[in-house]
Amino acid sequence: LPTVPIYGIPVSKLDMKETVSYLVQAVSARAPHQIITANPIMVMSALENPEYMNIMTSAELVVPDGTGVVWAAERCGNPVKERVAGFDLLHELLKTGESYHWRVYLLGSTQEVIQETARRLQMQYPAIIIAGFRDGYFGPAEDQEVVAEIVSTKPDLLFVARGADSQEPWIAKYKSQLAIPIMMGVGGSFDVISG
Ligand code: UDP
Repeated sequence: LPTVPIYGIPVSKLDMKETVSYLVQAVSARAPHQIITANPIMVMSALENPEYMNIMTSAELVVPDGTGVVWAAERCGNPVKERVAGFDLLHELLKTGESYHWRVYLLGSTQEVIQETARRLQMQYPAIIIAGFRDGYFGPAEDQEVVAEIVSTKPDLLFVARGADSQEPWIAKYKSQLAIPIMMGVGGSFDVISG
């Protein structure tokens, strides 16, 4: 996988099309991947917090979501082909996943938002299977129950919207238990999708 190191974080140089092809292979190989959509705020968090740095360097794929990250790669003389925005990647994955009938679990946001997000995504991508969804307002005491529920639905994709401070550490903490081919934090995307 071609990458460019940004403050030691290996950022993927794949463009959107190549990223999607790479992840299609990950799903067919059933290989767990944590995908982090890196922006400058996350890079700064990593520089200030070794635990967050560890999460970013241990992710299987870090894509250049923020234009600041794209700019940094260019400044290093090692440019990425294009920006790969998380919101766009979510849609590209669902579009491509239709032909494979991928199962998708949606985790995060409020009950109203997640319900409407599930409804709209199902309408937009009819061949996708919404394996399950759940709001993101639960504490660490409920983590195991949430993980077990997700695993029981056998998803190919897991999108987590709980804010970058908590979604990336949460996925990292449980990724070996979840073992889902595509696990990705999507921040405020469900708020946008649900309108
Ligand atoms: N969220 C959640 N659980 C929480 C906190 C936030 O599910 O405990 C959701 C929130 O509803 C929103 C998304 O996480 O849909 C992103 O939240 P926010 O924009 O506050 O986070 P940021 O991206 O600014 O870190």
